Amino acid sequence: MTSLAARYFDGQSSRVHDVDVELHEGNTLRLRGAGFERDEPLENLSVSPRLARICRTIELADGARLLLDDHPLIDQWFPLCNPLQLWVDRLERHAHAVAASILVCLLSAAWLFFWGVPWMSDRIAEQMPEQVETRLGEEVLAQLDRFAGLAPSTLDTERQSGLLARFATLKAGMPGAEDHRLLFRNAAGIGPNALALPGGTVVITDQLVSLVSDDREIDAVLAHELGHQQQHHALRQTLRSSFVIVIAAMFAGDVSSASAVVVAVPTFLLQGHYSREFESEADAFALRTLAEKGTSPAWFAQAMRTLEAYVSEQDESGDSPGYLSSHPQTRERIEEAEFAGEKFAIEHPELYRERPDYDACAEDGLCEEAELDEEIDCEVEDCEIDTSGLEQDTDTEAPVDPQPR
Ligand SMILES: [Zn+2]
Repeated sequence: MTSLAARYFDGQSSRVHDVDVELHEGNTLRLRGAGFERDEPLENLSVSPRLARICRTIELADGARLLLDDHPLIDQWFPLCNPLQLWVDRLERHAHAVAASILVCLLSAAWLFFWGVPWMSDRIAEQMPEQVETRLGEEVLAQLDRFAGLAPSTLDTERQSGLLARFATLKAGMPGAEDHRLLFRNAAGIGPNALALPGGTVVITDQLVSLVSDDREIDAVLAHELGHQQQHHALRQTLRSSFVIVIAAMFAGDVSSASAVVVAVPTFLLQGHYSREFESEADAFALRTLAEKGTSPAWFAQAMRTLEAYVSEQDESGDSPGYLSSHPQTRERIEEAEFAGEKFAIEHPELYRERPDYDACAEDGLCEEAELDEEIDCEVEDCEIDTSGLEQDTDTEAPVDPQPR
């Protein structure tokens, strides 16, 4: 067999010519069909590489094309000269090499997905100007206010000021503390929650403030959110989740398409797509910060338990997404916080009143005052007596006898 059947497209009309193709005088390809003949020097032709049993295409210099089934003759007419092409061709003929390449591709894709994208996202986050992150945070807050049902807080000014003062104490001395601000929002549809937005803003819902019975639980939750802020988790997670969009925007030079990223952030903040690594980092930061500020890290466990109790109550009465839905593995986290709390108690025996299980009556003989506190609003002077040695909770409802465990 010296000729092959092919379909010829002249590149000008859609008509197909059935032709026979053969080598003529060793250096010319001769095409013959009904009332059609054409000779073309091999050097003017280019052939598509062989790939499995896919049809081969021979392109002619004037844009015409030949389409023909793969056949060893084609490789004889167009021998490979490039060493790389020869090597690739040899690999393609070996089933083991093909299987190995598929495996390498799959492993590379997995590596890219699990390590490559996070690594590259973090490098981009490091290089990103601060203003971009701040702007992203503002956009996200606007989206949350508009679409997620966040309304102005109903907490009175005095309560807000008290919590802002605690937040200021908590963030004091942290790098970039001046960029960390606390905002209050009423969010009946979201429930008790706290969110760390890109750029330093932490949003806490009225529902979370009302749920807890001791402000140190709020401190614990806010310390965790500050952990997210310190590590720029919101920006990094956004980049990780939207890496393809960001890369496409960078290559296309089309910054506007990157704005699609903004839409994705409120969703992941509310539904919780922070990686486990980020959650652990924020937890570790919170436990460390609480201890440094003289508050037992066990308050973090207490806050988790309060939220857990709320969630199970809601589960009985219906579905309610909240803080824990965006922060899984609660059990594990509670245990870690308890452990840190025990360590804190050993290292700081003098701060025994900072434990969530501090019993004022048993340990300090303040039984009467504690009971009185539950019944009537005490005068400021009384509170100061009750909580001697403490800075916190002069404005909370149950500072001395917090919720029993
Ligand atoms: Zn978190």
